[in-house]
Amino acid sequence: MAKYGMVIDISRCNGCYNCFLACRDEYCGNDYPPYSLAQPMTGHFWMRIIERERGQYPRVKVAYTPVLCMQCENAPCIKAALNGAVYRRPDGIVIIDPEKAVGQKQIVSACPYRVIYWNEEKNIPQKCTFCAHLLDKEWKEPRCVELCPAGAMIFGDLEDPNSEVSKLMASNKVEALHPEYGLKEKVRYIALPKRFIAGTVVFGDKDECAENVDVTLIGDGVKQTIKTNNYGDFEFEGLPAEKEFSVKLEHPGYAPKELTVQTKIDVYLGEIILT
Ligand code: SF4
Ligand code: SF4
Repeated sequence: MAKYGMVIDISRCNGCYNCFLACRDEYCGNDYPPYSLAQPMTGHFWMRIIERERGQYPRVKVAYTPVLCMQCENAPCIKAALNGAVYRRPDGIVIIDPEKAVGQKQIVSACPYRVIYWNEEKNIPQKCTFCAHLLDKEWKEPRCVELCPAGAMIFGDLEDPNSEVSKLMASNKVEALHPEYGLKEKVRYIALPKRFIAGTVVFGDKDECAENVDVTLIGDGVKQTIKTNNYGDFEFEGLPAEKEFSVKLEHPGYAPKELTVQTKIDVYLGEIILT
């Protein structure tokens, strides 16, 4: 028996919303008993894209994080439901039974990820089912995964050690969106947005972009040296939040410079002039 899981690689996601649209296309106006009734045309986001603007002008980027039901092994939604209205299938997919869950609004607030939506008209809680109705028909993956043009979502059988999803899950690259919830989520992420430290280095005597300057980052057990590009830019990405780092700039013929940086937010240090 397969056990399904998904890895979402944030570094590949370009925020195109195809996954969101695929979900709408599959579920709006369509009932798939016994797993789901039709998703309303507005107000539900069984696949939601969180957009986060990062950095300060002129170094700004946007991180897109697709969020859906995490198919938790320790699922609080199952515990909150009466009469077995939320259950786990043998393949690990967590299902809200649309008949048994009528009137059970407490199921919505039981999910810390806030991925369950209340359907006012039908008086039921609803969420992503990993397209269980399609998997039952031998589909290899849910609609959102199939339509992602960037290959940002990797879906498959966690019981098969040779599946791509199993290999990724076994690597040290994946993490839960909120590990602090302790829910043993079957949806994990690669490259979740963290913090960056960036800057632009200028040779003061020539008033030009300082290419090939050694920039060393030290802090939180990390020591890493990179070189500025031909615009004098540098960037350290994926740093932990709320830490202190030292950034050291060195180039022959110029006095070295050292700056202390806190990663409370993403940091653009602006122009740093070497003299
Ligand atoms: S993400 Fe929320 S709805 Fe999905 S299994 Fe976990 S607790 Fe339940
Ligand atoms: S379809 Fe893929 S690239 Fe587009 S928003 Fe969804 S995960 Fe990102």
